[in-house]
Amino acid sequence: MFKNLHELIAQMPDEKSCRLWLAEQRWNGKPVCPHCGFDGKIYVIEGGKKYKCGSQTCYKKFSVTVGTFLEGSNIPLNKWLMAIYICTGHKKGISSYQLGKDIGVTQKSAWFMLHRIRAIMTEKVDVQMTGIVEADETYMGRKYRSDYVGLSPEEIDYKLKTPQNKKGAVLGIVERSTGKVNVKAFSEIKRDALTDYMRDKVEEGSTLHTDESSLYRKLEHNGYGRETVIHSRKEFAKTSVTGYRVHCNNVEAFWSVMKRGIHGIYHQISYKHLQQYCDEFSFRHNHRHLKDHEKFQIVFKGLIGRLPYKELVAPKNN
Ligand SMILES: [Zn+2]
Repeated sequence: MFKNLHELIAQMPDEKSCRLWLAEQRWNGKPVCPHCGFDGKIYVIEGGKKYKCGSQTCYKKFSVTVGTFLEGSNIPLNKWLMAIYICTGHKKGISSYQLGKDIGVTQKSAWFMLHRIRAIMTEKVDVQMTGIVEADETYMGRKYRSDYVGLSPEEIDYKLKTPQNKKGAVLGIVERSTGKVNVKAFSEIKRDALTDYMRDKVEEGSTLHTDESSLYRKLEHNGYGRETVIHSRKEFAKTSVTGYRVHCNNVEAFWSVMKRGIHGIYHQISYKHLQQYCDEFSFRHNHRHLKDHEKFQIVFKGLIGRLPYKELVAPKNN
């Protein structure tokens, strides 16, 4: 395994070395037929570009990328690997323009690659948060665009009402004991939707630390404890009667990294993609103690681990 981008490039300078490395990662050196699951004799054909299943009922050819996000991509494998490494390693993310320049693909290709990679950076945590849980909401996403210049306030209003143009609201929750963050994008935050989401993500009996917002009232004394800091009175932390610190500083710190990232790197993002950006930033936050190559592995394993086997074996309509 490589420990930095330089080693990645040195170990995988071309398509062939990438394919060998991928085969090792995917099958631990012993190819398995993705069509029928046969793990006996598999033939290496076409100078190592492809494999052929040795099962008498199958005999199908396949490549190391079949069924993965890399299948059928015109972008060279080594560029994909570099892109994953760069995308997971940059604390505040990277723009498609910059990534394109760094790895030598068009901005359009880089944009596509980033979206594919981001889709994998979604961490599915099924464990509910517990103990002290900080919660806070903020707004981010697209602001007035330059092409609104000259439009009437009514026209701007109308534009902002369409989901892809308006700013989104985001709810962030942080578990105090682990520092893990979970971020959810809403087109607008309503109390019922927020209550349902919180009930799903936070264990009953937990104590919420929030500002004075009325959004959390349905949860208070209704399965959940709540302590508030009054931001409008410039109160940002206090010590509760039981001795622990009441604040939302961990969520606030997360917002600050995410907002700097979005304003500085992506400039503007539309509501349509807001959840993906939330996932990207929470992935980085929740894995911030890992080394870059460890983060790379997590994303990479997610990419090749999800083989749509059913899709592959389903009869094609042709
Ligand atoms: Zn087979």
